[in-house]
Amino acid sequence: MSACLNCASDYQKKTMRRPHRYVESGLSFVLLTNMAALVCKCGEQPWLPDARSLSHAITEQLIRRPLRLTFECVRFLRKAFGMTSDEFAVLLGTTRQEVSRWENDRAQISGLMDLRLRLEVIDKVLPPRAAHRQLRDAVVAVMVKRVSSEDPTDNGGDIVIDATPHYSRKGSRGDRQPRIAIGAGAGT
Ligand SMILES: [Zn+2]
Repeated sequence: MSACLNCASDYQKKTMRRPHRYVESGLSFVLLTNMAALVCKCGEQPWLPDARSLSHAITEQLIRRPLRLTFECVRFLRKAFGMTSDEFAVLLGTTRQEVSRWENDRAQISGLMDLRLRLEVIDKVLPPRAAHRQLRDAVVAVMVKRVSSEDPTDNGGDIVIDATPHYSRKGSRGDRQPRIAIGAGAGT
């Protein structure tokens, strides 16, 4: 393991006991358990798992939730597509202005658009899988059930995700250095 650029002591890796609220995702309700942290003389800093791998895990849980997609969910999913607001509007057959209203919490996405978005996510964002059909059916079932229990105060609680499988294996190409607040920058 490498040394801290700031204090020059070797990093010790440890598992954080408390879940980390993964606000870096743009979502306020995702908790990561078993997050790693790097410890040196400067203190302890969380080491975030691979964002892309996590994004798929969060996306799947998000579209399975029996709750209308909120502004932060819409924004998160648009980014998961890697789309601009314009492209996203074309995908869903709406306008950029409407997408902007959803993302700024000035309008709620309609039930029809919500379902359409989830199905597009299954087709275009999540990796292909054998159980593709079952996931579609599960999402449609969830959307139908949701209609009967629509309560704007029900936020559904947190999505909890185990971070462990989302760290790239040590020594692999994807094993990136953590982002360091102090002392990072030009390499040696
Ligand atoms: Zn340090």
